[in-house]
Parts: sequence; structure tokens; C-alpha cells
Amino acid sequence: MPELEPRIQKIYDQVVRRNISEPEFHQAAREVFESIGRVIAKKPEYAEASILERLCEPERQIIFRVPWVDDKGRVRINRGFRVEFNSALGPYKGGLRFHPTVTLGTVKFLGFEQIFKNALTGMPIGGGKGGSDFDPKGKSDGEVMRFCQSFMTELYRHLGEYTDVPAGDIGVGGREIGYLFGQYKRITNRYESGVLTGKGLGIGGSLVRTEATGYGLVYFAQEMLATRRESFADKKVLVSGSGNVALYAIKKAQELGADVVACSDSSGVVYDAGGLDFELLRHIKEDERGRVADYAARRGSASVYRAGDNLWTIAAETKIDIALPCATQNELNGHDAKLLIENGVIAVAEGANMPSTPEAAHAFDEAKVLFGPGKAANAGGVATSALEMQQNASRDSWSFDYTEDRLADIMRGIHVRCADTSEQYGEPGNYVLGANISGFTQVANAMLAMGLI
Ligand code: GLU
Repeated sequence: MPELEPRIQKIYDQVVRRNISEPEFHQAAREVFESIGRVIAKKPEYAEASILERLCEPERQIIFRVPWVDDKGRVRINRGFRVEFNSALGPYKGGLRFHPTVTLGTVKFLGFEQIFKNALTGMPIGGGKGGSDFDPKGKSDGEVMRFCQSFMTELYRHLGEYTDVPAGDIGVGGREIGYLFGQYKRITNRYESGVLTGKGLGIGGSLVRTEATGYGLVYFAQEMLATRRESFADKKVLVSGSGNVALYAIKKAQELGADVVACSDSSGVVYDAGGLDFELLRHIKEDERGRVADYAARRGSASVYRAGDNLWTIAAETKIDIALPCATQNELNGHDAKLLIENGVIAVAEGANMPSTPEAAHAFDEAKVLFGPGKAANAGGVATSALEMQQNASRDSWSFDYTEDRLADIMRGIHVRCADTSEQYGEPGNYVLGANISGFTQVANAMLAMGLI
């Protein structure tokens, strides 16, 4: 792993000490720190104002009890979190994750990433994240609704269209956002559409928000590929995961002529040598809340299901050109990266947040594989959330085509920002460097302009 400059190493050590047992947060901070040394060297005013130290300390962290009653009448308790990390550029903005593994450290790493991602979109949104260790898997609609109502009964007092605007993430989709919005409306007696994004189309949601992260990811990858005169046409693609991001990455990659041969969930991998059937997969995942095993069973001989397998090992069986990790953090490690590189992968774009381990990310960098880090490549979701906020603020709703054009424009803008910055700092094509420095500079300048915040 690259060493940090002594001054930055000291700040990093302090972050580790002050946030003990939050390894994912340390990882996310270190990745940014590896890029930032050069900026601090050029602009001493950032160090003088302790910008990096301030950035690592959330403006506010809320941890709360979420009591709810299950279908058997038993009282259940979960823990809720909202980390309001940085509001220099706008109201805190970022999703809620409901998953049994969620801890404060998870929410902090996600919130930290979100600050830079949101800055990169060029929209006026700060960074935050929230969630709970609640597991929606296997819960009835009634249980999910009661949980969401209880969660919002505490969280509402911290939210507002000018304060903090949550959305979805893993385990939180249109159904959950609807229940959360309903409870917010009931408690506050305000139809404040802009307080949550990812809402259903009948309650102030935006067209394209469902597709946005996956589509945006593919647009970003397309821009990276174009720098080497490549495209998605006839490329073999692996997509990990099968949730919202994965689904619409598959759809857009297929529309651009790619052959997407596999995807996965936490139980296994589905491999269709002739290409995935998007509509069947979408139906099983979105309409039936099913698993990829159900998809494989219904696809019959066109599909092979491998319980418990590692998706990336498919690269050893068939040449893979493009990898789109869209499942979760640290799902692609150094070995997986090596395998992909040895077998000729040309581009990797992260649909999930921090899916590549540091070893994997460094391996892609060394091998000069086009590598789009999540904070740039998956920013289409939150960018379209900001478009939803715009529509809500003007009591308007835009057409699908207009909104998709805006998304495509924003993704092109993020690509230009990352590419230009990496060039300016002498490492053209290093999107990690470009994303970190460009995002950091925007937030740091806003913080300086506002005095000591
Ligand atoms: N959870 C998504 C992300 O990681 C979207 C956040 C949002 O729309 O606010 O960026």
C-alpha cells in the first residue's frame, strides 16, 4: 500500500484512534488521504485551516432505538443511525441502508464517501448517510411498515428539505421510502416532498430515479472506454449483485450491445453463457422479491446456478472485458482483481460503494485497467435524487427522456472533472486521484469560504 505523507499519516492515525472498531471508515478515509497529500502540498491554506481533520469529524451523529412489533405480536428492537457528515455544499444528502451488518462504522464510511460523490455531481448537496441493522429479508409488508414508522418517529426531527434529505440504499427501495414519507407527513402535517428522494411516481418521485444508478454507471464506463476508443458493443460483462444498481446496469449495458453473462446475490451466482434475460430477472427481483436461484430455475438449461460461488472466478473460464461490481463493500479482493487482470479485463466501474478492497484498487491502477471508483461511477443515483429535489421544489415533474438526458449530462460532467483533475496532477486516467481531489477541493473551498464551520 502506498505510504502517506508524514503530516497526512498523523491525521490518519488520529482518525483511527478516535474511531476505533470502524475499519471500513478507516479504509474510506485512507483512500482519500492517499490522493490528498499533493493538494495540501500545493495549497497550504487547507492544512492551516485543518480542513482534513474537520472533514473526518461528522457535523452530527444520531443513534437511536427503533422498537417495533412483529406479526406474532413480539416486541423487537433495532438500532437506527443517521450521520450528518458535511453540509458545506447543501443539505445532508445520502441514502438509508437496512441490513443486519450495519454498524456506525458502516454508516460513517458511506457518509464519508457521499461527501465527495455529491460534490462531484456539481449539485448543491452535502453528504450524509443512515440506516439500521434491521433485516428486511423475510419480513412481511406490515412488519416493514411498522419498522419504518418507528424509525421515522425518531428521525423526522432531524430532517427537512433544507436540512437533511435521505433516500434508499441496500434494503431500502420505493416501498420503504413510501412508508417513511407517509409517517413524516403524518407527524409534521407537511406535504414536504423534498424531504426524501426515491419516492414512488404517484407521491412526488422522479422518473429515471429507479434506473439512475445503474444507467449512470454504464454512462460513466462508456466515457472511460471512449478514451481508449472502446465501447460496450460486443463486450463480455460481469455484474455482481442483482439489486437496483445491478439490474439497471445490466439493462443499459445490454442496450449498448454488451453481453452480460452473470450476476449474483448473497446466496450464489447465476451464469448464462448466452446472456442474462433482463426482463425475467427484473420481474423475479422487483415484483416477486425473489432470489437469483429462482431466476435460474425458471431459465432452465439457459442458466447455471452456483450456490455460494465467487462471481469473479468466472473470469478464469471465459474472457471478461468489463467488470461492474454492484453488490456491496469489499466484495472484490486482490485475488479477484489479479484474476480479472490476467484474463484481459479492460475496465472496472464500481456500482456499489467501495466494492474493491484497497489491494484490488491498487492492482487495477498498476495494470492500467480503466478503473472508475464508486464515488464517481455510481453518482448517477444521488444526482437524480437532486433532480427529484428540483422537481419537488418547483412542483413540477419532468419527462423520462428529459430526465435521462440530464443524468447523462451529469455523468459526462463527472467524467470530465475526474479526467481533467487527474491530468492536472500528472496522472492522466487515474480516476481515483481525479475523483478524490476534485471532490475534496470543492468541499474544502466551500468550508474555507464559510469561516470556521
Ligand atoms: N444510496 C445512494 C448512494 O450511495 C443514493 C443516495 C441518494 O439518492 O441520496 O449514492
